[in-house]
Amino acid sequence: MKEFVIGHETTINKLKEMIEKKRLPHALIFSGKEAIGKKRVALLLALMLLCEEKSACMKCSTCKRIVKLYHPDVILVTPAKESISISQIRELQQWSSLKPMEAHIKLAIIDDAHLMTVQAANAFLKTLEEPPLGTHFILITHALNRLPSTILSRCLILNFRALNREEIKKICEINGITGIKREICEKTQNLIFSQVEDKKLSDMLNIAKLIVDNPSLEILGFMDTLGKRMEKKASHILLSLIRKILNERLKKEKNERLFKLHELLSFVEECSYNYNVSFRSLMEYLILKGERL
Ligand SMILES: [Zn+2]
Repeated sequence: MKEFVIGHETTINKLKEMIEKKRLPHALIFSGKEAIGKKRVALLLALMLLCEEKSACMKCSTCKRIVKLYHPDVILVTPAKESISISQIRELQQWSSLKPMEAHIKLAIIDDAHLMTVQAANAFLKTLEEPPLGTHFILITHALNRLPSTILSRCLILNFRALNREEIKKICEINGITGIKREICEKTQNLIFSQVEDKKLSDMLNIAKLIVDNPSLEILGFMDTLGKRMEKKASHILLSLIRKILNERLKKEKNERLFKLHELLSFVEECSYNYNVSFRSLMEYLILKGERL
């Protein structure tokens, strides 16, 4: 259990206390940066609630199946393509209306909950208004302000802190993250980079360097080689790499072009996290404006 989640002790203790006092709310939101372990804590909550030994032992059949997402009373909803659709929410509602198959309660984890479409969010709101007995919902998000206030007001929000250097090091060790990937994860203190293959990561690094040092529209052609439709996650990774390179450059030389690029990048990052703008349009904007600095 110790190695299943690194860090987040305060949050875990809070959850334990809620379970002990039988005050676990029907709906919780786990909010915090990407790739810091929010989903793992959600699974740990399932382990704590359902373990046959009541200890999140990781050894009993229930624990093993929860971790592999094979347990019938624990479900994980993730965005199909770029969003969580209303049909996914209807399926979830169908699932939560049934009695638990094995345990006394059920747990539904909705990853990237801010990617629910408007219709999906409205449908889900109905579930929150009349929560099915014995089902707990965990909404995971790194963009809390994109969830409708009607949903926010019906959930208990737990804010996750970022991981520190030691914790990141430990996670890299445990998960065998090495080479360039580990170097970037540790330097940026961001584990999101561990989710890309080595080859793709070094291609992205080259693209990020070009965008910082020599922006031109030709770069968009290279970006297409990464995959015609860059997924949201990959786009966040590319933006974080650009940020990393730019910070390195700014440490060495302080010129006006780099400062302006810094401002421009902050604007693009904000748009990417807060609005539903296509990544390609954002990159075109960044490169076109960057070219003229
Ligand atoms: Zn167990």
